[in-house]
This record gives sequence, structure tokens and C-alpha cells, in this order.
Amino acid sequence: MPRGPLRYSFRLIGLFAVYVVTARLGLLLDAVGGFATLVWPPSGIALAALLIGGYRLWPAIALGAFVVNAWVGAPLAVALGIAVGNTLEAYLGAYLLRRVAHFEDGLDRLRDVFALVVTAFLTAALSATCGVISLGLGHVVPWSAYGSTWKAWWLGDALGELIVASLILTYFSKFSVPLKRTRFLMEAGVLLILIVFWTLAVFGEIVPSDWRALPHQPYLLFPMLIWAAVRFGPRGATLGTFVASAIAIAGTTLGLGPFARPILSESLLLLQTFMCVVAITILILGASISDRKRAVEARDEFLAIASHELRTPVGAVLLQVQALLRYIKKEGASDLARVRSGLESADRQARRLARLVNDLLDFTTVGATQTKLEISEVDLSVLVRDSVAHFQDQQLTDIPEVTVRVDQPVNGFWDRHRLERVVDNLLSNALKYGKGKPISVVVGGDPARALLTVSDRGIGIDAEHHNRIFSRFERAVSGRNYGGFGLGLWIAREIVIAHGGAIRVESQPGQGAIFIVELPRAKPATAGA
Ligand code: ADP
Repeated sequence: MPRGPLRYSFRLIGLFAVYVVTARLGLLLDAVGGFATLVWPPSGIALAALLIGGYRLWPAIALGAFVVNAWVGAPLAVALGIAVGNTLEAYLGAYLLRRVAHFEDGLDRLRDVFALVVTAFLTAALSATCGVISLGLGHVVPWSAYGSTWKAWWLGDALGELIVASLILTYFSKFSVPLKRTRFLMEAGVLLILIVFWTLAVFGEIVPSDWRALPHQPYLLFPMLIWAAVRFGPRGATLGTFVASAIAIAGTTLGLGPFARPILSESLLLLQTFMCVVAITILILGASISDRKRAVEARDEFLAIASHELRTPVGAVLLQVQALLRYIKKEGASDLARVRSGLESADRQARRLARLVNDLLDFTTVGATQTKLEISEVDLSVLVRDSVAHFQDQQLTDIPEVTVRVDQPVNGFWDRHRLERVVDNLLSNALKYGKGKPISVVVGGDPARALLTVSDRGIGIDAEHHNRIFSRFERAVSGRNYGGFGLGLWIAREIVIAHGGAIRVESQPGQGAIFIVELPRAKPATAGA
């Protein structure tokens, strides 16, 4: 398999080259103590690279940081210490964002912006500490300069992550709000030119002084950047902020603009503090605009699906009932088998309707934060047995065999009614997507938690959909083949989360699906009695 390793090597080399070039440029800008620079785009490049390309790209960062620091004259041991700090910064950042914050790259949710801000300042502190200790131990920087070096390092790295990583991530992600054709692109172009001109006027002093109606004030940047965020969401926010800060840094370095001071590192410190505030404000604005847009889109989509889905079974029930009435009127109920099959068909459709209405009702009342649980001591084994029996009783037509395996009572503190809903939703799915093959339900666990699995041997689910299908309205099948709102698993997940538990799926296409629910057996701390 030459392709995989070859592509990996190209990525490593590319990342290494970009890292070294941008780091060298950053270090040209009056680094405090020669190494701690207020402009450090590589921290953002490194974080974005690990988030997009995976943790295995870390050697390019380690080598890049080592080479560039040795190049500008750090003793090898010091360069090694700095490289360790820079690599850990990116690695830990990617880990915290992915694993702890469940970060999505589009930055179009407020929670992702908060996660990025916290992670950037936290991991930059780690890198600054490693770097400054290495410089101190190597006698490159006196301990008395520790404070100022650390501050410059910290701020420079954090800003790199905030401005550069967010730019790369939003443009690589598929979640951002799509741009709409020519008019939008034209507006984007005009806005970009305005931002460039405006920032040049403020930070580059390109307008002759006697023409200046406005003073050179940094806050003049806000209207343009707010425009970018409001109209173009996270992508507009990150590109606008990146362009503005690149020009602002260039201008300030040349001794121009509102932050220019006799000592460059002082000017840059003022500028970077300002850019931190700008970047965070504009990112938050971009994400909240996207949040709102998504909510409106989800509502419209939901209304469209709801009317389509509800109309089909209602129409079918009506047709069946009318056909039966006509038949009975004309010929009496002489052919009971025919009447029965007609009623069964109407019953199936009415049942489908009932499930949809149930989903809709739950949709309005369920939500991890607002689900009020009615907790009592419940034996999950009994609950599952009863639910399966009830589920089987409800089906008029033949359904596949459902085997239930419970070894012993599994008691815990749960909301009985809500858990029945979880079992019911998982069984309905196993029936709907199970191709008529046997279904198996197992209850078990250990003293701390209960485990419930529902397995079928049906159509299965591709791994890329495993997380998505638990979100609202998300489906992995076409509406033409299988009806549904895409709410059943979301409802199940919300209920399980409200109990402090977790739900996941193991499945491959064509191989069936296993849904696994884990529930803590102790009383949830926040639950109402
Ligand atoms: P719905 O069934 O109404 O679409 P759900 O939230 O219950 O909504 O399920 C979401 C999606 O997950 C389904 O559209 C389907 O693609 C997939 N899915 C759920 N359960 C199974 C299963 N047992 N086997 C295969 N795919 C499933």
C-alpha cells in the first residue's frame, strides 16, 4: 500500500515546511529574549493540522519547532525543550477539543468558540512555561526576564491558535453556512477590499494626515468585522480578523498606527491584546449568527418533513376505511377475511401515525437540560421484558422473533416511563431496519451501571453515520424507502443523557446493528423525586 505512507510523508514534509517558514517569519519580529515572539502563527497551524489531519502529524511539529529554534541560535538542548512544549501544546489542544469539548471544526456553534478560546489560552500557557524554563536552564534568558518572556510567548501562541487555527478550520470544514452564489461573493469581495483599505488607513496611515477626518483609532475596525461576521458567519469572521490582524501587525512593526511605541515588543503587546479581544468578539458573533440560522433552517426542514410524514399515513388510513365502508355498504361484511385485512392495514398506518405523533410530543418536551425525571427504583430486567411483551402484543402482523436475555434483576434508580420509551424506540428501529430477521435484547451490567443492548441483523449503518444519527432529524436512509422523522434516537439519547448514561451503536452496512445503552444505577443527583 504505497499510497497511505506516501501521502503521510508528503503531509509531514508540507507541515514541517509551513511550520518552519511561518515560525522564522514570526521570530524576525523583535522576539522578547530572542525567542518569545508576540506573533506566532505556527501554534495555530499546528493545532489545525492535528485536528484536521490527525494526531499522527505531530512529528512534523516537533521537528519544525526544533529546527527553527536551533536555526536562530538556541543550544540544542534548549531547542529540544521548546519543541517538546510546542508539540505538547498542539497535541493537548487537539485532544481537549476533540475528546473533552466534542469540538466541530466549523466554529458555527457558540460552545465551539468557547472551547477554542479556553483551549488556546490553556495550552499556550503550557508551551510558554516549557519554553521559558528551557531558555532559563540554558542561560539564554536571565530568570529576571522570565515574566515578560512568558507573557509574550503566551499571548503570541494563544493568538496564533485563535486567529490562524480558526481560519484554517472554518475553511476546511463542511459545516459552515454555504455562500450563496454571485451576489454573495461580490459582497464578500467588496467587504474584503474595504477591510484591507480600512485597516491600512488605521494601522498603515496610508491616508495623508490633512485628509484624515477620523482619528487613528483601533475601534474603527469593529464595524467592518461585525459586517463580515453577520453576513458571512464564522468564515467571514475568521477571514476578516486574519486579514485585519496581518495588516495591523505589519503596520505596527513599521512603527505606524495607534499602537506604535518606541520599543517594538511593547507596541506588539498592545496590539496583540487588542487583537485578542477583537478575535474573540467577532468569533462569538459569527457563531451566534450561525446558531440562529441553523435553528431557522432546522425548523423549516422539520415543518416540511412533518407535513410530508404525517400526510402519508393519514391519507392511507382514510383510503382504507373508506374502501371498507364502501365494501360493507355494497356487499355487507360477507368476506370477513377481506374486512380483516383492510382493518389490519388501517391499523398499521394508524400505528405509524401514533409513533410520529409521540415523537413530535416528545420532541417538544425532551431535552437533556429540561427533561424532568420521575425517579423510582426500577428493575431493568422486568421493565425490558414488559416492554418487549407489550411491543409484541401491539403488532398485529407477524414480526420476527425477539429474544430477551436477562440473567438477574438489575435494579437502579430511573424514570420508568422514559426508559420504556427508549426500549420502544430501539425495538421499533430494529423492526423497521431489521429486514424481518430475529432481534435480540440483553440486559446486564455490574454493580455500578446497567447495560442494555438491542441487536438486529438488518441493513446496518455505515461508520460515518454512527454519531450523527443520534442528533435531531438526522437519518442514514432515504425517506423514500423508510419513513420517519429522525427523532427516535435523539429522544432515546436525551433520555439516557438525562439519567447520566450513554448510548452508542456498533454496526457495519449489511451486518445489522447493536445499540448499547449504559445507565448508572445510583440516583441521579439532579433528578426530581
Ligand atoms: P427514524 O427511524 O425516524 O429515521 P431514528 O432517530 O430512530 O429516526 O433513527 C435515525 C436513523 O438511524 C434512521 O433514519 C436510520 O438511518 C438509522 N437507524 C436507526 N436504527 C437503526 C437500525 N436498527 N439499523 C439500521 N439503521 C438504523
